[in-house]
Formats: sequence, C-alpha cells, structure tokens
Amino acid sequence: MAWQGIEGHDAVAADFARSHARGRVAGTYLFIGPAGVGKASFARQLAKAVTCRAPRAGLVACDSCASCVQAEAGSHPDIEIVRKPEDRATIPLEALIGDADHRLREGLCWRLLLRPVLGGRRVAIILDADHLSEEAANCLLKTLEEPPPDALIILVGTALERQLPTIRSRCQIVRFQPLSADAVVRVLSSEEPSATGDPGRLEACAAAAAGSLARARLLLDDELVAFRSRVFRTLGETPLRGVELARDVIAFVEAAGKEAPPRRARLRVALDFAVEFFRAALRRDAAGTLPTDAVLAAAVHDWRGDAERADGALAATLDALDAIERNANLTTLVDAWTAILEEPRLAHST
Ligand SMILES: [Zn+2]
Repeated sequence: MAWQGIEGHDAVAADFARSHARGRVAGTYLFIGPAGVGKASFARQLAKAVTCRAPRAGLVACDSCASCVQAEAGSHPDIEIVRKPEDRATIPLEALIGDADHRLREGLCWRLLLRPVLGGRRVAIILDADHLSEEAANCLLKTLEEPPPDALIILVGTALERQLPTIRSRCQIVRFQPLSADAVVRVLSSEEPSATGDPGRLEACAAAAAGSLARARLLLDDELVAFRSRVFRTLGETPLRGVELARDVIAFVEAAGKEAPPRRARLRVALDFAVEFFRAALRRDAAGTLPTDAVLAAAVHDWRGDAERADGALAATLDALDAIERNANLTTLVDAWTAILEEPRLAHST
C-alpha cells in the first residue's frame, strides 16, 4: 500500500517515519525532483501526518482527528502553503514577511513564530521554490537557519541547481525520483476508471509521461496526444519548418481562450515536448539509445542534427520556458523561439 495514497515514494516516507519515531524530524527540508511526480502532495500529506493528534505506526495520519479533518479540508490553522501566483515571475516577498505596512508582523516567517493553534507543529510549505527571488530567499535565511521549535518548513523545487546556495546549505535535501510506468498506470486507472478498458492506451500514456503523473494526465487527452506527435515530427524534420511549427504551437495556445494563465500553461506543455525531444536527441548522440515512447523514438531517429545542435536548441527552449512568465505576448515568444531553432547552425544536418 502506498504511503498516504501517494504512489512511488514509500522509501522517502519510511525515512520520515523513522525520523519521526525517534523524535528527529528536522526543521527544514528541500524536496527536489521532476515536475509532476507528487512532491507537493507528499508535502501536504507529511504536514497532515506530523500534525495528526493520533498518528499510527509508519507516520500514517489517523484521518479522523480534528487536525486531520482540517488538514484534509485545507483549513488547518497551523499548515500554511505559499506558492508563486500564476501571473508573477517569483514568490511575492509579502507572502513571506508581510507587505510594506506590516513588515515582519504578517507573512509566513512571522506566523511560524506563533504558538501552534492546535498544539502540534506549525508547518510551512513553500511550493515553486525554483522561483524564489534573491530578496525573498534572504528573508527566509534566518527562519531556515533557526526554525522556531516545532516548526517544519518544506521547500519544493525541481532541480538543485535552481536553488540558491544559501537556501540549499540550510535545508536537508530529500530527492524524489520519477515514477515507474507501473505506478503511473496504477494512478491513472484509479483516477480514470473509464480508461482501464484500454490497457494499451494507458501503457502508452505512461511510457510517454517519463515518470510524471502530471504529464500522464495530460496525455489522456487525444487532442494533446495528436499535437505532441505533430511537434515531434516537425522537430525531427530537416530542414526544420519553423513557421509551420510556430503556427501549430500558437493555434494550440490560442485554443485556451483569452485568459493568460491557461494560455501560458499550454505553451509550457508545448515547450516541454520540445525539451523532451532535444534531451532524447542528446541521449541518442551520447549513448546511442532511443526513448521507449515509439512516436518520440521515430522522430529522434530521423533527426539529422548532432549533439551541438541539440544542445543549442535545448538551451533556446529552456530560455523560452523561463521567458513565459515575463512575456505578455506569447506569439512573439513562439516566433522568436522557432526562428532560433531554424538557424542553419542548429537545424541543418552536416
Ligand atoms: Zn489525525
């Protein structure tokens, strides 16, 4: 049975259970792992379990005490979750230390100093730690260095290199691995009972998800699967038809409607596909291996670029991903990105 219903991270849960049994759960943790593998869910369940008034062996929440009920409802007075708002590039400073009129009299760092309302622990979860500005990180340092007694602070990020060294050095690092294809299939089957009638589809979906549940959920959508195949095919062609790629990506983004957050989310999905393609191309060049996903494997096999081109294209795509939040005009961003991919240096075969 998966710990607290979370697939794939039982070993991490067992470590926490051992620490908890010895009264040695630390004050600050930094969760690191790819997007969509369940780090945030794990942090929420850990918060529930450590604040539970009657936890069972293995740090399993009782699910019936007042603390568990409020944690489950998202209304626990001692559990606070901070994340980057959709329309901001970073976590706002005021979320951590209060706005200009209430500096250090509001915000997460201040609230951590208060006595727990329910008498257990106070837990702060900082999602999107990749997007902590240096200023915000500096405000956190003292809290991370000397967390108030009984406080538990969990930062959640995707890669260690994206965290500031000052933050890294003050936290215990906990690594989360991509989920196995089996685990992804199990979760999808439980969430989408209708999909279980087609096990082949679920398996293909899990293979294409690269261990990310978030991506697997997206890939249950036929329109998205078709778009993904087109993106891979276009990227695999030489020369690359940048205008066509841009048109397809922009149409995919426009289908989200006029609101910025869903448009940005769609562009992120499209660029993630390109990241996947160029990473697979690099692996082909370095190790001669092709991905297990058949559509991606065929496109990468046909690609006539080399490692240097894949590297340049990957860097340009990661830059474009970073620029999504800063750019009001996504069309311009897509045009600029595809123009770079088209550059002879990147796209032509030797
Ligand atoms: Zn409980």
